Amino acid sequence: MDFLHSGLAAVQRHLAFVSVDPINWKFYVQVFSWGVTIFESYLLLRQYPLYSKTSPPEALASHITQEDFEKSQKYGKDKAKFSIFSKLFSQCVDSAMLQYGFYAWCWGAAGTILGKFGYGTDYEILQSIIFSFTMYLLSSLPTLPLSIYSTFWIEERHGFNKTTPGLFVTDLLKSWLVAFALGAPFLAAFLYIFKWAGDRFVPWLMGFMISFQLLMVIFLYSNKLTPLSEGELRTRVESLAGKLRFPLKHLYEIDGSKRSSHSNAYFFGLPWSKHIVIFDTLIQQSKPEEVEAVLAHELGHWYYLHPTKMMAISQIHIFTILAPLSCLPACSSMILTPLEAFISIGMNAVSRHFEWEADRFACELQDKLNEKSMNDMGDRLGRALITLHVKNLSTVWVDWLYSAYHHSHPTLIERLRGLESFRTKRAKKE
Ligand SMILES: [Zn+2]
Repeated sequence: MDFLHSGLAAVQRHLAFVSVDPINWKFYVQVFSWGVTIFESYLLLRQYPLYSKTSPPEALASHITQEDFEKSQKYGKDKAKFSIFSKLFSQCVDSAMLQYGFYAWCWGAAGTILGKFGYGTDYEILQSIIFSFTMYLLSSLPTLPLSIYSTFWIEERHGFNKTTPGLFVTDLLKSWLVAFALGAPFLAAFLYIFKWAGDRFVPWLMGFMISFQLLMVIFLYSNKLTPLSEGELRTRVESLAGKLRFPLKHLYEIDGSKRSSHSNAYFFGLPWSKHIVIFDTLIQQSKPEEVEAVLAHELGHWYYLHPTKMMAISQIHIFTILAPLSCLPACSSMILTPLEAFISIGMNAVSRHFEWEADRFACELQDKLNEKSMNDMGDRLGRALITLHVKNLSTVWVDWLYSAYHHSHPTLIERLRGLESFRTKRAKKE
């Protein structure tokens, strides 16, 4: 801890000039945030022409019908057009809010509201909470029409929308309520630690944020689950988990079809007691032996401790956000936005490597477990991935830079190629 603190103190001394010099922060925040928006629009413009291709890549040609391919191209094109418009629109709104003092106005409004209830401005934490929610609610209003359009026009037109206007409104109100119920105590604790720990706040806040993250994971993943019914799939998954000594406690199925049809599988829990969750849409679309291969991939993530490694990386990430906060004026931390863009490319690269490792794990199971019946695990996984991809109308042709920036998973073609190369490597060994 002391090592951490002395390091930070040195950085603070070096950057001390920043808080003294009269720098026009507003200007720099505008320049940097526009820079990121323009870069992201450039990526979309690189990707856009690929939606006009008339046939799928060779590796996929035998797996996807022309009709499905055309559907996916249309869906991609619609989403890309919408994305470029909403990106520029949101940037204009944010820019105007910053330029015309929206944030300062919200701070004042929070003070006025507090005053009405007889509290003075010395209730800083309370004022911060009211400020944050006034800001959150008001700034989400301009983009509300965009999300309505996206749900009821784009997703609807391509057959993905399962939401009704009533459900949409309830969901929205619920999300505001949850944001308040979770956000208010989080913010209060965060600011309290910040005040209490003084300039040694970084390690304390990091500890606090790790605990909060863990709580959120438990809260998010334990929602609306039903036990998976008896049958071939259950037997297969239980047997696979048993052979790998995966501490499987419960096996669940989740209703993924209610709101959106995008589907997958995941696991969660404590090191000695884990739960596996499979989306019912995956079960409906793929054969039991293919779903088993998807789970073999997921168990690869567990075997190589990927979630733990990701957690450690995200702690370093949080540190890189908190550390400059201690030496720069608060608003200037918005300057970190472009840095975030680069960090996300790095995080994606790590996550892509993990995906590749988990795919290899599934292909190597036959040797690891000495199980002849698993010698086609790679093929089964490939088939499941293709089905998922086609049913979700996921984009088939992807620009490499666009993908590196936006995708935490390798593209379908890259994964199929990977699976193929694991197979040939193994064949050579024999
Ligand atoms: Zn994965």
